[in-house]
Amino acid sequence: MIIELPKEFKYEGKGERREYAEVKNDVLYIYGDVPFRKLMYNITYTLKGNNICYYCGKRVKARNITLDHIYPQDMGGPTITNNLIPCCRDCNCEKSNFSESEYKLFKKLSKSEYKVFYEFIHFKHEVMREDGEYQLPKEWMDYENAGKFIALVEMDKEFKGKKYSYTKRYFKEYHAIPKPIVVSKNGVLIDGYTCLMVAKEEGLKNIPTITLENVIVHL
Ligand SMILES: [Zn+2]
Repeated sequence: MIIELPKEFKYEGKGERREYAEVKNDVLYIYGDVPFRKLMYNITYTLKGNNICYYCGKRVKARNITLDHIYPQDMGGPTITNNLIPCCRDCNCEKSNFSESEYKLFKKLSKSEYKVFYEFIHFKHEVMREDGEYQLPKEWMDYENAGKFIALVEMDKEFKGKKYSYTKRYFKEYHAIPKPIVVSKNGVLIDGYTCLMVAKEEGLKNIPTITLENVIVHL
Protein backbone atom coordinates (compact mmCIF):
# COMPACT_ATOMS: atom_id res chain seq x y z
CA MET A 1 0.00 0.00 0.00
CA ILE A 2 0.96 3.62 -0.41
CA ILE A 3 0.93 5.77 2.71
CA GLU A 4 -0.10 9.42 2.69
CA LEU A 5 2.93 11.71 2.77
CA PRO A 6 3.43 15.47 2.64
CA LYS A 7 5.44 16.95 -0.24
CA GLU A 8 8.21 17.87 2.17
CA PHE A 9 9.21 16.49 5.52
CA LYS A 10 12.41 16.09 7.50
CA TYR A 11 13.19 14.41 10.80
CA GLU A 12 16.52 14.49 12.56
CA GLY A 13 17.17 12.29 15.57
CA LYS A 14 19.20 13.38 18.55
CA GLY A 15 21.13 10.13 18.89
CA GLU A 16 24.82 9.68 18.28
CA ARG A 17 24.07 7.52 15.30
CA ARG A 18 22.83 9.20 12.20
CA GLU A 19 19.07 8.89 12.57
CA TYR A 20 17.32 10.71 9.85
CA ALA A 21 14.16 10.62 7.75
CA GLU A 22 12.94 12.64 4.82
CA VAL A 23 10.29 12.69 2.14
CA LYS A 24 11.74 12.98 -1.35
CA ASN A 25 9.80 12.49 -4.60
CA ASP A 26 6.80 11.06 -2.70
CA VAL A 27 8.94 8.44 -0.97
CA LEU A 28 9.78 8.35 2.75
CA TYR A 29 13.43 7.43 3.30
CA ILE A 30 14.41 6.35 6.79
CA TYR A 31 18.07 6.11 7.82
CA GLY A 32 19.01 4.40 11.05
CA ASP A 33 16.91 3.63 14.06
CA VAL A 34 14.20 6.29 13.76
CA PRO A 35 11.19 5.58 16.01
CA PHE A 36 8.56 4.79 13.39
CA ARG A 37 5.49 5.52 15.51
CA LYS A 38 6.76 8.97 16.44
CA LEU A 39 7.59 9.58 12.80
CA MET A 40 4.06 8.64 11.74
CA TYR A 41 2.59 10.92 14.44
CA ASN A 42 4.69 13.87 13.28
CA ILE A 43 3.89 13.28 9.62
CA THR A 44 0.18 12.93 10.39
CA TYR A 45 0.14 16.32 12.18
CA THR A 46 1.97 17.85 9.22
CA LEU A 47 -0.63 16.42 6.85
CA LYS A 48 -3.83 16.77 8.87
CA GLY A 49 -3.16 19.59 11.32
CA ASN A 50 -3.11 19.59 15.12
CA ASN A 51 -5.89 21.91 16.24
CA ILE A 52 -9.24 20.58 14.98
CA CYS A 53 -10.98 17.41 16.13
CA TYR A 54 -11.90 15.34 13.10
CA TYR A 55 -14.91 13.80 14.82
CA CYS A 56 -16.66 16.69 16.61
CA GLY A 57 -15.11 19.59 14.71
CA LYS A 58 -14.10 21.46 17.88
CA ARG A 59 -10.92 23.52 18.08
CA VAL A 60 -8.30 21.87 20.27
CA LYS A 61 -5.07 23.30 21.66
CA ALA A 62 -2.06 21.59 20.08
CA ARG A 63 -0.95 20.23 23.45
CA ASN A 64 -4.35 18.58 23.98
CA ILE A 65 -4.74 16.98 20.58
CA THR A 66 -4.59 13.19 20.29
CA LEU A 67 -4.32 10.80 17.37
CA ASP A 68 -6.98 8.19 16.83
CA HIS A 69 -6.41 4.93 14.97
CA ILE A 70 -9.29 5.01 12.46
CA TYR A 71 -9.20 1.21 12.30
CA PRO A 72 -8.59 0.32 15.95
CA GLN A 73 -5.27 -1.20 16.94
CA ASP A 74 -6.87 -4.15 18.67
CA MET A 75 -8.55 -5.07 15.39
CA GLY A 76 -5.28 -4.93 13.47
CA GLY A 77 -5.18 -1.21 12.63
CA PRO A 78 -1.59 -0.15 11.89
CA THR A 79 0.14 3.05 13.03
CA ILE A 80 0.49 4.69 9.62
CA THR A 81 -0.65 8.09 8.38
CA ASN A 82 -3.64 6.63 6.49
CA ASN A 83 -4.94 5.17 9.74
CA LEU A 84 -4.32 8.18 12.01
CA ILE A 85 -6.54 11.19 12.50
CA PRO A 86 -6.21 14.12 14.94
CA CYS A 87 -9.06 14.40 17.42
CA CYS A 88 -9.90 15.62 20.91
CA ARG A 89 -9.45 13.41 23.98
CA ASP A 90 -13.21 13.09 24.56
CA CYS A 91 -13.89 11.75 21.06
CA ASN A 92 -10.86 9.47 21.18
CA CYS A 93 -12.04 8.00 24.50
CA GLU A 94 -15.61 7.61 23.35
CA LYS A 95 -14.61 5.99 20.06
CA SER A 96 -12.37 3.54 21.92
CA ASN A 97 -12.07 0.40 19.80
CA PHE A 98 -14.88 1.22 17.37
CA SER A 99 -13.93 1.60 13.74
CA GLU A 100 -14.91 4.90 12.15
CA SER A 101 -18.09 3.46 10.62
CA GLU A 102 -19.07 1.83 13.92
CA TYR A 103 -18.47 5.10 15.74
CA LYS A 104 -20.68 6.98 13.26
CA LEU A 105 -23.48 4.49 13.96
CA PHE A 106 -22.89 4.87 17.70
CA LYS A 107 -23.25 8.67 17.46
CA LYS A 108 -26.76 8.26 16.05
CA LEU A 109 -27.96 6.22 19.00
CA SER A 110 -29.67 7.33 22.15
CA LYS A 111 -28.08 6.51 25.50
CA SER A 112 -30.56 3.72 26.15
CA GLU A 113 -29.28 1.88 23.09
CA TYR A 114 -25.57 2.02 24.03
CA LYS A 115 -25.45 -1.21 25.99
CA VAL A 116 -26.93 -3.36 23.21
CA PHE A 117 -24.67 -1.69 20.67
CA TYR A 118 -21.53 -2.32 22.77
CA GLU A 119 -22.52 -5.96 23.09
CA PHE A 120 -23.17 -6.26 19.38
CA ILE A 121 -19.79 -4.73 18.47
CA HIS A 122 -17.99 -6.90 21.00
CA PHE A 123 -19.63 -9.96 19.47
CA LYS A 124 -18.86 -8.82 15.92
CA HIS A 125 -15.16 -8.24 16.74
CA GLU A 126 -14.92 -11.62 18.43
CA VAL A 127 -16.37 -13.37 15.37
CA MET A 128 -13.89 -11.52 13.16
CA ARG A 129 -10.98 -12.65 15.36
CA GLU A 130 -12.21 -16.22 15.28
CA ASP A 131 -12.29 -16.02 11.48
CA GLY A 132 -8.73 -14.65 11.48
CA GLU A 133 -9.94 -11.34 10.07
CA TYR A 134 -8.75 -7.83 10.77
CA GLN A 135 -10.72 -4.63 10.52
CA LEU A 136 -8.91 -2.82 7.74
CA PRO A 137 -9.26 -2.39 3.99
CA LYS A 138 -8.47 -5.64 2.16
CA GLU A 139 -6.11 -3.88 -0.24
CA TRP A 140 -3.82 -2.78 2.61
CA MET A 141 -2.78 -6.30 3.48
CA ASP A 142 -1.35 -9.44 1.93
CA TYR A 143 -0.14 -12.80 3.19
CA GLU A 144 3.61 -13.19 2.80
CA ASN A 145 5.97 -16.02 3.55
CA ALA A 146 7.17 -15.42 7.11
CA GLY A 147 10.57 -16.89 6.26
CA LYS A 148 11.48 -14.00 4.02
CA PHE A 149 11.60 -11.46 6.82
CA ILE A 150 14.76 -11.63 8.81
CA ALA A 151 14.57 -10.48 12.38
CA LEU A 152 17.64 -8.41 13.01
CA VAL A 153 17.74 -8.86 16.74
CA GLU A 154 17.80 -12.02 18.77
CA MET A 155 14.80 -12.79 20.90
CA ASP A 156 15.71 -11.51 24.34
CA LYS A 157 14.06 -10.85 27.68
CA GLU A 158 12.58 -7.59 26.53
CA PHE A 159 10.62 -9.37 23.86
CA LYS A 160 9.47 -12.12 26.16
CA GLY A 161 7.57 -9.64 28.30
CA LYS A 162 3.89 -8.71 28.41
CA LYS A 163 3.51 -8.21 24.69
CA TYR A 164 5.01 -11.61 24.01
CA SER A 165 2.68 -13.40 26.45
CA TYR A 166 -0.31 -11.57 24.99
CA THR A 167 0.68 -12.54 21.44
CA LYS A 168 1.21 -16.16 22.47
CA ARG A 169 -2.17 -16.27 24.20
CA TYR A 170 -3.83 -14.67 21.20
CA PHE A 171 -2.27 -17.25 18.93
CA LYS A 172 -3.45 -20.11 21.12
CA GLU A 173 -6.98 -18.82 21.02
CA TYR A 174 -7.33 -17.69 17.40
CA HIS A 175 -4.47 -19.42 15.55
CA ALA A 176 -3.45 -16.05 14.19
CA ILE A 177 -1.35 -13.09 15.22
CA PRO A 178 -3.14 -10.04 16.71
CA LYS A 179 -2.17 -7.72 13.89
CA PRO A 180 -0.41 -7.67 10.53
CA ILE A 181 3.29 -6.91 10.55
CA VAL A 182 4.43 -3.74 8.73
CA VAL A 183 7.41 -3.82 6.36
CA SER A 184 9.09 -1.29 4.10
CA LYS A 185 9.25 -1.68 0.31
CA ASN A 186 12.75 -3.10 0.69
CA GLY A 187 11.58 -5.74 3.16
CA VAL A 188 12.73 -4.24 6.47
CA LEU A 189 10.44 -5.01 9.39
CA ILE A 190 9.05 -1.73 10.72
CA ASP A 191 6.41 -2.87 13.17
CA GLY A 192 5.35 -6.23 14.59
CA TYR A 193 8.57 -7.79 15.84
CA THR A 194 6.76 -9.82 18.50
CA CYS A 195 4.12 -10.96 16.00
CA LEU A 196 6.82 -12.12 13.59
CA MET A 197 8.69 -13.96 16.35
CA VAL A 198 5.56 -15.75 17.55
CA ALA A 199 4.51 -16.57 13.97
CA LYS A 200 7.92 -18.15 13.40
CA GLU A 201 7.86 -20.02 16.70
CA GLU A 202 4.41 -21.37 15.98
CA GLY A 203 5.30 -22.35 12.44
CA LEU A 204 2.82 -19.99 10.78
CA LYS A 205 3.89 -20.03 7.13
CA ASN A 206 1.99 -17.10 5.73
CA ILE A 207 1.98 -13.99 7.79
CA PRO A 208 -0.43 -11.05 7.33
CA THR A 209 1.75 -8.22 6.06
CA ILE A 210 1.27 -4.57 5.24
CA THR A 211 3.97 -3.53 2.77
CA LEU A 212 4.57 0.21 2.59
CA GLU A 213 5.43 0.67 -1.08
CA ASN A 214 6.61 4.25 -0.64
CA VAL A 215 8.83 3.73 2.40
CA ILE A 216 12.50 2.71 2.13
CA VAL A 217 14.52 1.90 5.24
CA HIS A 218 18.33 1.91 5.42
CA LEU A 219 19.51 0.51 8.72
ZN1 LIG B 1 -13.87 15.69 19.38
